[in-house]
Amino acid sequence: MIRLTNLHKSYTMGRNQLHVLKGIDLHVAEGELVSVMGSSGSGKSTLLNVIGLLDTYDSGQYQLNNQPIQNMTESRAAQLRNRFFGFVFQSFNLIPFKNAQENVALPLYYQKMGRKKRLRMAMEYLDKMGIREWADHLPGELSGGQQQRCAIARAMVTNPKVILADEPTGALDTDTSYEMMALMKNINQEGVTIIIVTHEHDISDRTDRVIRLKDGVIENHQKP
Ligand code: ADP
Ligand code: MG
Repeated sequence: MIRLTNLHKSYTMGRNQLHVLKGIDLHVAEGELVSVMGSSGSGKSTLLNVIGLLDTYDSGQYQLNNQPIQNMTESRAAQLRNRFFGFVFQSFNLIPFKNAQENVALPLYYQKMGRKKRLRMAMEYLDKMGIREWADHLPGELSGGQQQRCAIARAMVTNPKVILADEPTGALDTDTSYEMMALMKNINQEGVTIIIVTHEHDISDRTDRVIRLKDGVIENHQKP
């Protein structure tokens, strides 16, 4: 599903270059639930953003579903992004002045789906995430766990092949984190590939494989 070969990425800051990914070799098969660990600043978010076509890379290869990802226009990248990926972030990234249902429906608006249908589908996914009764509440009226459920519903509503989650439990208490991981496991069991960035061992312990990022390369692949 996702194959990176000797992938490099640097950020340019003024006249300085910050070499963040220094030859990443990684294969994530369809249907896997993996975690990415590494110290702060090790390039975890950068790696996730490159995989999710939110950012570009400098050299090496990226194959998504056997399709080379290179020299792509932004509109082509957006098209693939919408077809393949759902994103979940630590800070939920919900729009504060839209209610839960409208937040979940938003990706479908960008797909030009009609209002009635997208609101109906949003409700279906809020229901799946167990927060149907919160549909007409604003994010600020929801608990952290409910907000993350809403964000996961938003990620799932377009029926993505891959969920990319960047420290999704970073802002949640332990019990709520475990609930969120149980939810992720259910989604994974429905066939969705999931990559979770985390620095919490009890989160990575709940995934099938831990990918360790250190000094810009992958240190080892560990299967428990
Ligand atoms: P992690 O998620 O593992 O904490 P990041 O991928 O966010 O690490 O960042 C890796 C390094 O790249 C850090 O040193 C960070 O400051 C730098 N960095 C991240 N994004 C940018 C950017 N857009 N421009 C310049 N430097 C960046
Ligand atoms: Mg990060």
